[in-house]
Amino acid sequence: MPNGGPEIEQLIQLLARLPGLGPRSARRAVLHLIKRKEQLMIPLSAALDRAVAAVRTCEVCGNVDTASPCSICADPRRGESGILIVVEDVADLWALERAGVGNVRYHVLGGVLSPLDGIGPDDLHLDGLIERAPAYGEIVLAMNATVEGQTTAHYITDRLAGTGIKITRLAHGVPVGGELDYLDEGTLSQALKARTAL
Ligand code: ZN
Repeated sequence: MPNGGPEIEQLIQLLARLPGLGPRSARRAVLHLIKRKEQLMIPLSAALDRAVAAVRTCEVCGNVDTASPCSICADPRRGESGILIVVEDVADLWALERAGVGNVRYHVLGGVLSPLDGIGPDDLHLDGLIERAPAYGEIVLAMNATVEGQTTAHYITDRLAGTGIKITRLAHGVPVGGELDYLDEGTLSQALKARTAL
């Protein structure tokens, strides 16, 4: 039985769809917003409006930013290392950036191969990666340590076979089944430093 009016109920239902929030937390969050309308609810609404208008997916790497190409692709210093790190999701890119991995560039696949879920090569941004790869001296496969992540890494390695491009993967500081986004920055930057050749 809804407590507030339909507008409040809709807000709760939308927030409940966010990762990490269920209906109970969403209800608490909405109540908190309503109680702090001036300090929180109005600025949040304005920030959402601005983000909706500004947000872009980078046409080069798949990162989200307010410009395309994104600030990482547009920064010439980022190309100097010759390292391109392939990640499943923007969250992984952000995790690596938080870990301060240095002047590297990224490629966001937008998922992993998963025959069971009907996700094949055409559903991922693989062609863009194959196209970009020759411009880099090293491709680091930073998929999550899941079966699907490793299957995807093998597929990319096969696609790039014979190109002579050096391919590496994150070292096994990354726990099996581990998702990059949940690793602490130290572990992540260590896993990159100790990466191994494929
Ligand atoms: Zn980009």
